[in-house]
Amino acid sequence: MPELPEVETIVRGLRGVVVGKRIRRVEVHWARSIAAPDPAEFVARLEGQRVLGLDRRGKYVVGRLEDGFLLAHLGMTGQLVVADAGEGDDCRYLRVALVLEGVRVHFSDVRKLGHLAWVPDAGVALGSLGPEPLSAGFTVEGLAAAAARRRVAIKALLLDQRVLAGVGNIYADEALHGAGIAPWRQACTLRLEEVDALWRAIRGELERAIGNRGTTLRDYRDSAGREGGHRKALRVYGRAGEPCVRCGTPIARMVICGRSSYHCPGCQH
Ligand SMILES: [Zn+2]
Repeated sequence: MPELPEVETIVRGLRGVVVGKRIRRVEVHWARSIAAPDPAEFVARLEGQRVLGLDRRGKYVVGRLEDGFLLAHLGMTGQLVVADAGEGDDCRYLRVALVLEGVRVHFSDVRKLGHLAWVPDAGVALGSLGPEPLSAGFTVEGLAAAAARRRVAIKALLLDQRVLAGVGNIYADEALHGAGIAPWRQACTLRLEEVDALWRAIRGELERAIGNRGTTLRDYRDSAGREGGHRKALRVYGRAGEPCVRCGTPIARMVICGRSSYHCPGCQH
């Protein structure tokens, strides 16, 4: 399940490969991987257009075209890989191929929960997303205000893409551990110093993960088909039973908001 650091890594890898190139042809192998418009119009909208820029917004890859935008959301298992770049490019799960001048980019997706879309205006299409956690728009005050008005577990608040964009299950758990806050705490009960610690932990965790080119649990690959290197740096996620690096208490796993959650019962309150 690629989150902000994984999508950022993919975008950084693809940017130099696709920006400035014209999209010659689009091959749709699985129609339902196209969210909008219908697949035939999607192909017609893209073919012949030059890619002017490539960026990330939340967990979306945003390609700026001469007319409109190409959006990609990787869902659980989606990959955007330069074809023939590495072993991560598994053609069995190829859903859409973008054939650009001199390069093919494959959208592969085992579980088929990811999608591509063409939209006239990315700002409108992604308008409900909250601030980017690593931007100046994400502030302690803003996070405190969002927490104060919500009677939900703090973990659920962090997963809410309208509150902040790009954090998912892994980095929510890691940030909450970093801040010493239990995932089930009601968001509205957090004190300002706790919100401040959480704000720092979110940003620090995401920056470290980007530095390690993301976390590969199973499916995530960068645009060259390589695994990310951040898994070894995770302190709670996927580490049930292992001693907490901070206090030695065994890490516990529980289900919160329907998601596997990992935390330390010793130092997260
Ligand atoms: Zn601990």
